[in-house]
Parts: sequence; C-alpha cells; structure tokens
Amino acid sequence: MTNHSITPSPNNPRVELINQASLQPFTTFGVSSTCDHLYRIDEIEELRLATQYLEDPLILGGGSNILPMGNITRNVLRVELKGIERVEETDEYALVKIAAGEVWHNVVLWAIDQDLAGIENLSLIPGTTGAAPIQNIGAYGIELSSVFHSLEALELGSGQQKDFLTEDCRFGYRDSIFKNDLRGRMVITSVTLKLSKQHNVHTSYGAIQQTLEEWNIKDPGIRDVSKAVIHIRQSKLPDPAQLGNAGSFFKNPVISASAFEDLKKQYPEIPGYPAGNEVKVPAGWLIETVGWKGKRVGNVGSYAKQALVLVNFGEAKGEDVWAFAQEIIGSVEQKFAIRLVPEVNIWS
Ligand SMILES: Cc1cc2nc3c(=O)[nH]c(=O)nc-3n(C[C@H](O)[C@H](O)[C@H](O)COP(=O)(O)OP(=O)(O)OC[C@H]3O[C@@H](n4cnc5c(N)ncnc54)[C@H](O)[C@@H]3O)c2cc1C
Repeated sequence: MTNHSITPSPNNPRVELINQASLQPFTTFGVSSTCDHLYRIDEIEELRLATQYLEDPLILGGGSNILPMGNITRNVLRVELKGIERVEETDEYALVKIAAGEVWHNVVLWAIDQDLAGIENLSLIPGTTGAAPIQNIGAYGIELSSVFHSLEALELGSGQQKDFLTEDCRFGYRDSIFKNDLRGRMVITSVTLKLSKQHNVHTSYGAIQQTLEEWNIKDPGIRDVSKAVIHIRQSKLPDPAQLGNAGSFFKNPVISASAFEDLKKQYPEIPGYPAGNEVKVPAGWLIETVGWKGKRVGNVGSYAKQALVLVNFGEAKGEDVWAFAQEIIGSVEQKFAIRLVPEVNIWS
C-alpha cells in the first residue's frame, strides 16, 4: 500500500486492520489458517481507496464458500458495507438495492416482511449479498439470476465503479463472469434485485410441497415457503456453528445426454435432471455410490446425511480437507469417468 489514508486510526474508525489475522472465525469451514493483513471495511470511499492501493487483495464476505489452505501471504479485504433501500416502485415490483455486506438470509427475511416475493426459496443460504452473484446462488428451484436486476462493483487497481446488468454477468449454474473472465478483479459493493409484489410461490422442488402438506398449509404464502425451506435445510445440512463446512463442496456435474445414456445402461438407477441439452447428475449420488458418504478420515469427513457436504470435525487443516476431496474426486472419476469440480473457492 502506498496511500495510507485507509490506515485505521482514531480518525478513521471505518477500517479495522488485523495483522497476522486468524481466518478461522471468518470462514465457516473453521480450519486453522491466517492471512498477513485482514482489512475490515464498512465505508464505500475507504473501500475505493483499498481497491486502488492494496496489492492484489483477496475478497472476503461471510467466508461460507472458501477453503483457506495454510497461511495466506496476501491482503484480505472483508466487505462490510451495510444498507437496504427500495429505489424504484411500480404496481408489480420493487427494485431493492442492497449493500454487499448485508447478510443474505437477513435480506430474505426483510423482503418477506416487506411482502416482496422472489427470494423466499433462497432462505438460510449463509453468506453476504455481495457474494451471491459470484456463483449465482441457488436452492429449491430458484437461482439469484431470476430476480437479479444489476450490481455495482469497484475494479481492483483502478478503483473505478463498474455497473453490471443481468446480461453482463453471464450467469450459469453456480457460475458467473466473476468466476471466469473477471475472477478476482471486481469488488461487488451493492446488488439490486427486482422483487415481485405478486406472489407466485414455487413449491414443486425438493420437499417443500410435502412439508407444507404435513403442516396442513393449503394456500401457502412466501412466509410459509421460507419456513418450509428453513425447516428442510436445518434437518439436512450441518450448522457451520456446530460442524465446520462450506455447504456443497462439489458442483453437480453436467454431462452430455449421450454420456448420460451410456452411464444409464451400466447404472440404471443413476439420477439425472435436464440442464438445457445436457444432463445434471447429483454429485451426492456419485459420492455415495463410490462409498464415501458418511466416511471419516482423521478430522475430515463426508456428512452422513448429505455426502456432498465435507465437514471439519474440529482440528482439520485446509490441506486435510483438500486431500480428502482429492480421494473422492479420484474414486468418482475411476468409476464413472466424471471429474468432480469444487464449488468451494480454494485459497492458497
Ligand atoms: C451450510 C451451507 C449451506 C450452503 N447452501 C448453499 C446453497 O443452497 N446454495 C448456494 O448457492 N450456496 C450455498 N452455500 C455456499 C455459500 O453460502 C454461498 O456461496 C454464498 O454466496 C457465499 O457467501 P459469502 O459471503 O460467505 O462468500 P465468501 O465465502 O466470503 O466468498 C465466496 C467467493 O466470493 C468472493 N466474494 C465475496 N464477497 C465478494 C464481494 N463483495 N465482491 C467480490 N467478490 C466477493 C470471494 O472472493 C470468494 O471467491 C452454502 C454454504 C454453507 C456453509
């Protein structure tokens, strides 16, 4: 850093700098790891200076999709900007601008309180709003892209503001331009969503409908759907506060229809879901079939209720988790000729 106006001082309480910071409390995997300098910034002008003057920083939100390995000899910039604002209204929808550091689940609960629909199926996904477009978060049949309007970002190096509309983001399954051409080059500062005042709830995916029926709810609203999603997620996924994890460790592989047909001849029970002209195969099924579900090696394991989630039983290092993941990748590739790709971002 050359310009030190972002240096924390009594006059500059909007920046906190921690040297040799432990990343354990800032990431949900809970593996032991440090970084040289951790900057926590909750003010846009300070963030702009940081994007101009900090050398090649790594960007951190809620740390729920990161596996840090060892000691990271880089600056880490934690985006803590806060604020939610309704910026445009019609009879049909509201445009809502959300600062990047807002916790995503709080935004979902806020929207429900405001009677705005569209993100209730994305309840309880950990992390911040600024990270949500990076992998186009999705769950229970809905992806962020379905309600996304635009985002603002600061370019690393120049500190210039760049605006992105939906078509600029190249959203795909757990994917966007920010994981590809613009990987590590933008700090997202706000996300604007187009939330609906008409409530067309989506209950067909997973166990939502079944849960609502069990609760005897015949005409569900967005709050009911959110509660059902929270209930299902809590029963299936480990709480990172109890058991370190980053949700699905691998992406569900998408393979050609002909490759899927070939596999189906060998394994008639293999599940597959249409993904455009291709077929998405649940990675959890592949992992379970090769025998890794619920297995533990030292301090790392595959979660007993959901094979796709790798867990830290307490003292694991990032390297232990990565070695475990490599074993799974090898077993799945050997049996099915499919190479699993991590959904989690590996920091080393
Ligand atoms: C129990 C559990 C369940 C999960 N379930 C789901 C699920 O159902 N669906 C789903 O899609 N994901 C899920 N995830 C993954 C995770 O919640 C999402 O990927 C989330 O968007 C990550 O947000 P974060 O703020 O924690 O990002 P981080 O983990 O801090 O960062 C993730 C990536 O985004 C980058 N980044 C973060 N903030 C910014 C910013 N402001 N500007 C630019 N880059 C940034 C980081 O550099 C990193 O590459 C789950 C995770 C856990 C632990």
